[in-house]
Amino acid sequence: MQLIDGKALSNKVQANVATKVEQLKQEKNIVPGLAVILIGDDPASHAYVKMKAKACEKVGFYSITHSMPDTISQDEIIATIEMMNNNPRIDGILVQLPLPSHVDTDKILEVIDPKKDVDGFHAYNVGRLVTNLDTFVACTPLGVMKMFEAYDISLKGKDVCVVGASNIVGKPMASLLLNAEATVTITHIHTKDLKAHTSRADIIVVGVGVPKLITEEMVKEGAIVIDIGINRIEDGSLVGDVDFENVSSKCAYITPVPGGVGPMTIAMLLSNTLKSAKGRII
Ligand code: NAD
Repeated sequence: MQLIDGKALSNKVQANVATKVEQLKQEKNIVPGLAVILIGDDPASHAYVKMKAKACEKVGFYSITHSMPDTISQDEIIATIEMMNNNPRIDGILVQLPLPSHVDTDKILEVIDPKKDVDGFHAYNVGRLVTNLDTFVACTPLGVMKMFEAYDISLKGKDVCVVGASNIVGKPMASLLLNAEATVTITHIHTKDLKAHTSRADIIVVGVGVPKLITEEMVKEGAIVIDIGINRIEDGSLVGDVDFENVSSKCAYITPVPGGVGPMTIAMLLSNTLKSAKGRII
């Protein structure tokens, strides 16, 4: 069994982004800029935004966080996004999810200029992903693809089972895998017999938010298991969706939680923002 070290790979990607940012500054006088919109006081959202701001600073980006109370109106959020759409110093706009229940998330995401949609959630970019055109791709699934690439894991013709079908994780993951010519099965909470699908997969990619959902008997010998889940359990520690202790010995490769997909998500956000900033000179 080999561990896929997301932390080390993320550091490598971030160092590469920092070098390119320096070049962009020297040669074109461009400093990539990221705007984060944070609504309410959900501690997890605050922690993620803090990590993202720190990472931006580390690679030399300009970054601003618009923090708003959860009583804010939808129109005020839209006005802030439009301001960022028109701000030439901003290359990427990220609205930290989840949003309060009085806000229509789909509507908000559609207001972001697709050229600044570094989270890849806008329907325009999702459509381009599905049709296999160059676009901004959701950071978490993009990070998983980087892991496959870094560890020379070929996807062509492989049976891949994606567990979880959300717009931000499972669906873009499945599109990327399909674009890479894997045979993809997408499963979700209403799937009748999850084990029947996972146990014949060469690769399982799981992102559902249920600790230990994937157990030993659901994984075939020599499979590759990518765990996107992040769950905080009673003792305060973070675990994924895979019963790592019992599953790992059966795997050819497996990602740990923490230190797996999580750090790659941030690295891909930086990489997407850099890509957007480079677009200023095209
Ligand atoms: P979500 O609630 O929007 O979607 C969950 C998906 O899992 C749904 O498609 C649902 O049908 C499916 N599901 C739920 N229970 C299931 C079950 N018992 N069997 C099969 N399918 C089941 O969640 P999300 O936003 O997609 O996030 C999923 C997980 O990924 C969470 O743990 C989240 O914290 C984590 N996540 C991690 C990163 C990262 O950077 N590593 C990024 C985003 C989300």
